[in-house]
Amino acid sequence: MGQFLAKLREDQSPEGKQRLQRVFHDHQAHIDMLKMFPPGPDRAKMVHEKLDMLIAGDRAKNPLRELALSCKKGCAYCCRIQVMITPDEGALLVTKANELDLKLDYERMKEQATWEIEDYKKNAASPKVRCVFLNDNEECQVYEDRPSACRSYFVISPPADCDPVVEKNVKVFAMPVAAILESAALNTTSPPVYTTLPRELAKYIK
Ligand code: SF4
Repeated sequence: MGQFLAKLREDQSPEGKQRLQRVFHDHQAHIDMLKMFPPGPDRAKMVHEKLDMLIAGDRAKNPLRELALSCKKGCAYCCRIQVMITPDEGALLVTKANELDLKLDYERMKEQATWEIEDYKKNAASPKVRCVFLNDNEECQVYEDRPSACRSYFVISPPADCDPVVEKNVKVFAMPVAAILESAALNTTSPPVYTTLPRELAKYIK
C-alpha cells in the first residue's frame, strides 16, 4: 500500500489528485464499514471473503494477467518472512488451530514473536524462520483461513528468487484495489495495531 500511495502521489495532475482522494475515501469507507461489526474471527473471515473478490478483480484488470503465477502448492519461501496480521486474524488462527487440533511449535512461535524484520533476514537459512503453520510438506495447515497478507501475495518472477537466503528482486502482481481493504483492516482498531503473526498468536499462549 505504501509503494502504491507513493506512486499515486507522484502524479500531480488533476486526475492523479482525484485518484488519490478516491483511495483515501475508499480506505476510510472500509474502516467505517468494518467498525460496524464486532471484532473477532468472524470479522476476519468477512474481510477475507471480500478481499478474495477484490483480488480476483485486480487480477482480471492487470495487463500481466496472462502470465503464469509462480506460486504453487508446496512452494513456501514466502512463509519464511515477516507476516503482518490483524488481531481479528490472530483470533481466527487460534480458533482454527484449536478446531484442527494442530500441534504448533510454541517455542519457535515465542522466539519469532520477539523478532523484527531484520531477524527474519538474519535467520533466513534456519528452520526456525518457518511459519508455525507450515507442515513438513511445505503446505499451509490453515490455508482456507490464512491471513490477508498471505492471500494477496502473487509472484510472477521465478520461484527461486523468493528464497529469502538468495534475496533477488521478487516481482509481484499489483493489487491496488485489494490493497486498500487490506490496509483498512490493519487500521480498524483505534489506535491501529501493527502486529505480526507470531506476536499475535503468542498472546494466547498461557
Ligand atoms: S499462515 Fe500459512 S500461508 Fe501464511 S505464512 Fe503461515 S504457512 Fe504461510
